Amino acid sequence: MAIESEVLVVGGGLAGLTGALAAAREGADVRLVSYKQSTLRQASGLVDVLGYTPDGAGPLTDPFEAIPSLPDAHPYRKVGVHTVREALSLFDEAVPTYEGGHTDANALLPTHGGTVKPTARYPAGASAGLASDARDTLLVGIEEMVDFDAPHVAAHLDAAGVPFDVRGETIRFPGDLRADAKVTRYAKLLDTDSEVAVRGRMVPAREALAQRVNPLLEDEERVGFPAILGDDNPGEIRAELSDRLGVDVFEVPMGPPSLPGLRLEDALFSALDEAGASIETGNPVVDFEGEDRIERVFIEKNGAKIPNSADQYVLATGGFVGKGVESDREGVYEPVFDCHVPHASDRYDWFEGDLFGDHEFARYGVATDDDLRPLDASEHSEFENLRAAGSVLGGYDFAAEKSGSGVSIATGYAAGQRAAQEAR
Ligand SMILES: Cc1cc2nc3c(=O)[nH]c(=O)nc-3n(C[C@H](O)[C@H](O)[C@H](O)COP(=O)(O)OP(=O)(O)OC[C@H]3O[C@@H](n4cnc5c(N)ncnc54)[C@H](O)[C@@H]3O)c2cc1C
Repeated sequence: MAIESEVLVVGGGLAGLTGALAAAREGADVRLVSYKQSTLRQASGLVDVLGYTPDGAGPLTDPFEAIPSLPDAHPYRKVGVHTVREALSLFDEAVPTYEGGHTDANALLPTHGGTVKPTARYPAGASAGLASDARDTLLVGIEEMVDFDAPHVAAHLDAAGVPFDVRGETIRFPGDLRADAKVTRYAKLLDTDSEVAVRGRMVPAREALAQRVNPLLEDEERVGFPAILGDDNPGEIRAELSDRLGVDVFEVPMGPPSLPGLRLEDALFSALDEAGASIETGNPVVDFEGEDRIERVFIEKNGAKIPNSADQYVLATGGFVGKGVESDREGVYEPVFDCHVPHASDRYDWFEGDLFGDHEFARYGVATDDDLRPLDASEHSEFENLRAAGSVLGGYDFAAEKSGSGVSIATGYAAGQRAAQEAR
């Protein structure tokens, strides 16, 4: 007997989670099946909608204004500006710890590399760090965290012309975590506020951290830490540090493993659980049955293939990073439903000689009609009951445009909502 649902979403990244949530909010009986960790664990946790045009113009002040001028093949053109806005409203409702929804304008945030980045939604913990804010800033790095070199980040931000004075200092984190210097260990220590030894005395971790930073403060009005300030209670930790330091405290989003990305993933899984969806993680969809319609998919579990059937399906398996799109010497593939992925037949046309050039492969992915149904090589829909969402889609370069999360949220929302509306 197959496990049945009205809508089956394959993939539990930002696109699949948003799609499943949108479908559940439409009243459908939804099941989400996902295999490995999504790219949220690698991403900054910022929700970029559109920072630059495909030609590289930007940073854009208003991403929504630029969407109608994008190329026809771009996923935003398939769903339209109105749907992008609706999808972000759903996101704002599901993840109330994010900010930025009060305006259409992109915010500018400092990155851990010392650049300034346009983004549409950001965790509340990053908001005191906006680069448009003129308050002088102290950045505090942790000795063991080599990917956040605070003096170097400060120098880069200064060179980028930010409208405030910025300095960087590096401290040893209180409590000896050198042997296990993981982002999650710092976060846990601050969450639990466990006591650590400071010059022979036991002091709660948050107080000890503030004690290390206090003597470094000059006239700065805000202090930025790498994003390690708690997993369960980040708001409470920031508030306590801010109180003890007498200045605003913020987090700078980091690269992998990204605590803001993990927090976002947790928030979306909780929202989906609350919406009543059935969720299965850790097992891949490996096969399917059906010709013009997908009848059922098979999930590999402990060596067995478990059938799951639904009326409507959403493909949200990610791009090259999530393995939703794969390539070999022969070509580029979508491995679950074998949907067509348009690409140049000569492999040497996929890349530019220049590492930072405009690589075609960055835009490779499934092409769809305006209803997000994947198209075959003759531009007919592959399956009448399959829609695709997120980075499995082609037609955009998320890294160059700074549009990754925005496309996943907008197309996930559209695919999930339409699937639910069509489900019998
Ligand atoms: C290093 C990095 C940094 C980034 N930084 C930013 C940023 O700062 N801002 C921004 O907006 N965007 C950023 N992005 C882009 C953004 O994170 C992605 O575009 C977006 O999260 C993709 O979501 P997705 O759901 O489409 O795919 P994924 O996150 O890849 O999720 C796909 C999911 O599908 C699962 N899956 C795959 N195959 C199967 C199968 N056969 N069966 C079941 N499940 C399957 C995978 O295991 C995975 O869980 C970044 C991306 C990377 C890689």
